[in-house]
Amino acid sequence: MNKKALIVVDVQNDFCEGGALSVTGGREVAKNVVSYIDRFSEDYSMVIGTRDFHEANNDNGGHFATPSAEPDFIDTWPVHCVQGTEGVECADARIRKTIDRHIVKGMGRPDYSGFQGVIEETGVSLEDTLRLFDIIEVDIVGIATDYCVKATALDALTAGLKVSVIASLTAAVSDGEGALIEMVAAGINVVHFEN
Ligand SMILES: [Zn+2]
Repeated sequence: MNKKALIVVDVQNDFCEGGALSVTGGREVAKNVVSYIDRFSEDYSMVIGTRDFHEANNDNGGHFATPSAEPDFIDTWPVHCVQGTEGVECADARIRKTIDRHIVKGMGRPDYSGFQGVIEETGVSLEDTLRLFDIIEVDIVGIATDYCVKATALDALTAGLKVSVIASLTAAVSDGEGALIEMVAAGINVVHFEN
């Protein structure tokens, strides 16, 4: 078994069309990630899923725009991915079923990277989890290219991993192309998968 993990970033109902923080192409990403997993799950020793997992009773460190202000979609956002809501759930049951380790992040704070999160059940960090299983390489897919995918990929690189982002399995809030260029410049492989 090779030591590669697939990280599925924030493929959650609220980030898909119809959700509280809808990202255009989110549903398509969910569908295509299912196809990808069907074909390539054997290539991975582990599938990790991250979820934005905000608290309901506060603005999560200024991450949620206050009711009187418009979100700027840069630092402040509409209320999204609140624990206990349908929006926080994985957007596709088949993806959820494939995930071996569930990482949650953003509990009371504005996390973007999966590496800021912990395993829901045990509180172990994503980095420690990867080390524990001798993972040396990660492929990253999910939402959104220019926020949580990018932040997760850059942190994976900092953690010393070989990192690829599968661009065709991501969707962006605004500047996906700029984010991919930034990732390539940092030393991340950007690859494509077509159905
Ligand atoms: Zn959030």
